[in-house]
Amino acid sequence: MSRMRAVQIPHPEGPFELVEREIPEPGAGSVRIRVEACGICHSDSFAKEGLWPGIQYPRVPGHEVAGIIDALGPGVVGWKTGQRVGVGWHGGHCGYCDSCSRSDFVTCQIAPQIPGFTYDGGYADYMVAPAGALALIPEALSAVEAGPLMCAGITTYNALRNSGARPGDVVAVLGVGGLGHLGVQFAAKMGFKTVAIARGQDKEPLARQLGAWHYIDSQAQDAAAELTTLGGARVILATVTSGKAMSAVVGGLSINGKLIVIGAAGDPLELSPALLISGRRSIVGWPSGTSIDSQDTLSFSALTGVRSMNEIFPLERVTEAYERMMSGKARFRAVLTTGQPAA
Ligand SMILES: [Zn+2]
Ligand SMILES: [Zn+2]
Repeated sequence: MSRMRAVQIPHPEGPFELVEREIPEPGAGSVRIRVEACGICHSDSFAKEGLWPGIQYPRVPGHEVAGIIDALGPGVVGWKTGQRVGVGWHGGHCGYCDSCSRSDFVTCQIAPQIPGFTYDGGYADYMVAPAGALALIPEALSAVEAGPLMCAGITTYNALRNSGARPGDVVAVLGVGGLGHLGVQFAAKMGFKTVAIARGQDKEPLARQLGAWHYIDSQAQDAAAELTTLGGARVILATVTSGKAMSAVVGGLSINGKLIVIGAAGDPLELSPALLISGRRSIVGWPSGTSIDSQDTLSFSALTGVRSMNEIFPLERVTEAYERMMSGKARFRAVLTTGQPAA
C-alpha cells in the first residue's frame, strides 16, 4: 500500500501532527498533485484554531500549493500528468448558484471550496484538488517561488490590477510584511508611484529595493498628511491586520480614492463619514481570485521578476515554521517543502 506523509490538525486548537496516510485517489473532475512546496498563510490559523465555520477534523491545512500533476481522475480534460501546477485559496465552486451563474466564482454562495478548510490541503506529500482550481506554473518559477504567489501573491496582484488605478497614479501599500512586500513589488511593476507605509525606519531600505518610490514611517510621521502632500493616494492597499492602522490612513486618499482591505484585521475600522462623502472616497475588500487569476499572477511574476521572500522549512518542521509566521518574525513568507523530486 502506498503511503504518504501529511501534517494534520487533529481538533480545534490541536497541535500539528505528522502522520502517515494512504495516498489519496482523485475522484471525477479532480487531479492528484505531488506537492513540492506549500506556503504557510496567516489564514491557516483559522483552521488551526477552529475559527472556520463548518470545518471538520482532522484537517490537513495549506492553500499555497505548488507541485506536479501525478494522476487524473475520471473526466478531467485540459490537463495531463507531469504538468506543474498551483492551487490557492479558491479551490473550487458549485457552478450553479447566482454568483457562479454570473461567473463570479470567488463569491460562490453554495459550495465555495478552500484547500485546507473544506478539503485537505498542501501540508502533505500529495493532495487532491478539482481540475478547475489549477493554475499552470511557468518554467521560470520554482515550486518554492510559486507557492506563496497562490494566496499572498494573487490577493495583492489581483486587488491592484482591479483597483482602477492607472500607471503613474499614487498607490500606497500599508504594511511591508508577508502581503505588503509583494504588494509593493506588484504596484511598482504595474507602473504606479508606489508608496510603502510601515512602522519604523528599518523597513525603508527594503521597501525601496522592492520598488517603492516613497517611504512613510507611520510611527514618526502622520501617514495621511504625508500622502496628502504627495497629492493623495488613488488607492491604498491595506495589508496590515490592524483596523486602527487602516483607519489612520483613510485621510490620505485622493478624491475618488479607494482603501482596499485585504488584511484580516480583528478590530473595527473607525473613521469620519464626512471624509468619505466629501471626496467620494470608498472602502472596499478584495478576496483573492480564481485559478486563471492565479495563473496571471504567476505569469506576471515570471515576466517582471516579482518574487516572494521566503524562509524555507522541511515538512517535519511545520510547528516551528508556523510559529515563526504567526510571530510576525518571518521574512516574509514561510514555505514548507516535501523534498519530493521534480518530475
Ligand atoms: Zn492565504
Ligand atoms: Zn456557486
